[in-house]
Amino acid sequence: MAYVLVINSGSSSVKFQIVDPQASASDKPFVSGLVEQIGEPQGRITVKHGEDKWVVQRAVPTHTAGLQEAFRLMDLKGVGPTQIELSAVGHRVVHGGMVFSEPELIIDPVVTMIRDLTPLAPLHNPANVDGIEVARALLPHVPHVAVFDTGFFRALPPAAALYAINAEVAEQNLIRRYGFHGTSHEFVSSQVPELIGRDPKHTRQIVLHLGNGASASAVANGHPIDTSMGLTPLAGLVMGTRSGDIDPGIIFHLAREGGMTIDEIDNLLNRQSGVKGLSGVNDFRELRTMIDNEDENAWLAYNVYINQLRRFIGSYMIALGRVDAITFTAGVGENDQHVREDALENLTMYGIEIDPEKNALPNNGPRVISTDASTVKVLVVPTNEELAIAQKSAAVAEKARAAGLY
Ligand code: AMP
Repeated sequence: MAYVLVINSGSSSVKFQIVDPQASASDKPFVSGLVEQIGEPQGRITVKHGEDKWVVQRAVPTHTAGLQEAFRLMDLKGVGPTQIELSAVGHRVVHGGMVFSEPELIIDPVVTMIRDLTPLAPLHNPANVDGIEVARALLPHVPHVAVFDTGFFRALPPAAALYAINAEVAEQNLIRRYGFHGTSHEFVSSQVPELIGRDPKHTRQIVLHLGNGASASAVANGHPIDTSMGLTPLAGLVMGTRSGDIDPGIIFHLAREGGMTIDEIDNLLNRQSGVKGLSGVNDFRELRTMIDNEDENAWLAYNVYINQLRRFIGSYMIALGRVDAITFTAGVGENDQHVREDALENLTMYGIEIDPEKNALPNNGPRVISTDASTVKVLVVPTNEELAIAQKSAAVAEKARAAGLY
């Protein structure tokens, strides 16, 4: 069996998994790991394999040092990428701009193009390039593949992708709706037709990716027609720590009247807002405990979250015209039955009716949770971005081998 190493480099961390691309979404990866607190005085490298977990605490000055140490740790435990059969290395790349829609075999010009997109994702794309460069140096004989978080939404129709701001300014600054979480929206939406017994070419659906970051999409017949994230992943739904859509005038107001700098406002909206900004916590398990203890701010935060979610569901129902399925995924969407219930409460007149018993079942693979009478099927489909990246990377690598490139 050939595995795929999947690497997801963030600004101060690197997540990685060694995955069997034939596995199912709920299978545990062969190996998973994390390099944390890169650039801080004390860093940490964790590797998990089966029931075993190994942790090394030491300074990790750079992404390069972190990945090298992670490879060394995996080798030491006999599960290193050079000790197993590896068909590809898949890299999650946050921003593909208007350049990339499909997964791309990584050759030098591709790395340059990803680096050139840095103005669109100043924290993420440079970290992604670091991860690519280290991994290519450590594993030079394996095909490396870039899978773009924006890729699926590259096909958004112009009416959904363009912002109504001065066209020249927008073009000069590459401003448009790119959308994110594309790998997840594609992975989940592609499973829905079979689960509800419909032809994928005639399935109109809404996907709600509700994790710490959250996004919604409307997908018609396999193609995205709208999504909630925009130029950046700050837009759209209320998230764990991100505000989602706000009146852009708030930013001018905070700068002019609140005396805040652009960086302070950036930090406020990305890290100190959303559910955390309103309640003090961003984890929905903690939020639920606070609600159960009658914490008013927690209750308010929850209601703002649900209200915004329903706004998007409503607008996507109109955009789609006919809706065959609404699907919940990611940490909150897969596990929090209250969110699912409240997001779709009182919509029977639109053909949407959740079955309370099915909704209350614990998270256990893809499933339909609507009543038989519900004309719009409601589903929970666990997402697995690493597996999706592994599958795409394995396919690109196979083509590269068939073409004699490896
Ligand atoms: P993700 O970004 O998809 O990993 O989702 C992470 C978020 O999912 C956490 O911050 C929690 O808010 C939420 N979550 C995870 N497990 C549960 C659960 N059992 N019940 C409610 N929320 C959960």
